[in-house]
Amino acid sequence: MKILLHTCCAPCTIYPLERLREKGFAVMGFFYRHNIHPFTECMQREAALREYAQSMDMKVIYQQEYDLEGFLRKMVFREAERCRICYYERLFTTAKLAKKGEFDSFSSTLLFSRHQNHALIADIGAAAGKAAGIPFHYEDFRTGWETGRDKSIEMQMYRQQYCGCIYSEKERYYPQRKNP
Ligand code: SF4
Repeated sequence: MKILLHTCCAPCTIYPLERLREKGFAVMGFFYRHNIHPFTECMQREAALREYAQSMDMKVIYQQEYDLEGFLRKMVFREAERCRICYYERLFTTAKLAKKGEFDSFSSTLLFSRHQNHALIADIGAAAGKAAGIPFHYEDFRTGWETGRDKSIEMQMYRQQYCGCIYSEKERYYPQRKNP
């Protein structure tokens, strides 16, 4: 069973890769870049994934384009809805690629994160699969959250401090005003 795994970063890939291989899947990764800002941060995450994937003998398709402008255009005036749009863009792109590459299914490391909207990702994954004509493999990888996190620390892997887009970077670092 060939599965295309959308991989948001190296640390989030550790546990899903382990689980899927245990289940007998032949896993190939897909690194999507448009939502990771700025470009230097994107390159840092990609480098960490390249190093990890090589050590695990996992093949990965690395997106060549970097459409920051296109990403921002989709979000303007819809900032509050941005994660829904971002999930769909990432999962639908993965689904189409999986279909074209004749994979049996596709999935995402987003299902590993405790910081993401898990139910929404599951819904959007299923919808993207339906639209592209390929099954979405749903699994709650959050059960391995500690395992994955501890291994990434052990391996001294680069661990990012915000989700990806410039909006999330602001939310992480801009001092929040407290009510007087
Ligand atoms: S916070 Fe994360 S999921 Fe939401 S739009 Fe930004 S990169 Fe995408």
